[in-house]
Amino acid sequence: MGWWKARLVFPLPAHYQAPAPSLLQELFGGLFAAVFPSGCLLCQQELAEPGGASICRACWEGIQPWVGPSCERCGLPFTTWRALDSVDSLCGFCRQGEQEFDVARNYGLYVGNLRKAILQLKFRGRERLGYRLGALLGRAFEALPEPDSAIVTPVPLHPSRRRQRGFDQAELLARGLVRRLRKEDRLHGVQLAEGSLRRIRATVPQVGLSASERRENVRGVFSVGRPEQVRNRTVVVIHDVMTTGATLSACAAALKQAGAARVLALSLARATPQFPDSG
Ligand SMILES: [Zn+2]
Ligand SMILES: [Zn+2]
Repeated sequence: MGWWKARLVFPLPAHYQAPAPSLLQELFGGLFAAVFPSGCLLCQQELAEPGGASICRACWEGIQPWVGPSCERCGLPFTTWRALDSVDSLCGFCRQGEQEFDVARNYGLYVGNLRKAILQLKFRGRERLGYRLGALLGRAFEALPEPDSAIVTPVPLHPSRRRQRGFDQAELLARGLVRRLRKEDRLHGVQLAEGSLRRIRATVPQVGLSASERRENVRGVFSVGRPEQVRNRTVVVIHDVMTTGATLSACAAALKQAGAARVLALSLARATPQFPDSG
């Protein structure tokens, strides 16, 4: 039995939901922040550049890409370079042919400061942080095979969840990525299409579910709003945290059914029990 059959349990409680802030709370919070500038979101130390980024320079520099060996197809980080000696250098999931996307890449491991930053983004809705983290995807984007002229689309939240949160973290990441590509004149025909994928059914959170339960949980959950937008195109799906790839596979299945030629997946972080978060 491989590790992917084990139950995947991460430190966030299974049904954790941040309370939705009321307008009044947000307004008050905004005023409070203007009068008493808050510290770094990750280490709480006072920020040297008030009004600038909400993560201090030291914490930001602690967010690093994964540069070690990884699965050729889904980007799963390997603990040793020896895994790459095999003929196809694929992980267990990809060997079993369980992934519906063509290729997936991730920026870094879901540990340390990257994990903390994603949790801040997910539960506190930091727009600027979303754009800044999305910009990190630029390099991983270029590591995808032939990403030129691709349609970039985020993994959507269910409309009820989006309303509750007031934002969609993958949407912010996708915008951050496209902004970065545009700023550096590297767009090469890439288009952002935010509403391309729709989540047509609400699901229980994937946290705490086994790999097969995850797959079952998201089966048939996504649909494509405008199939003509993706037909015969390369689509890059943006996700915050990839674990087994079940969500991205479900997105890819819907896109391919709608006629997409290729589906590439890009996640900010990859969670794997082989690289647990040390806190
Ligand atoms: Zn800090
Ligand atoms: Zn793989």
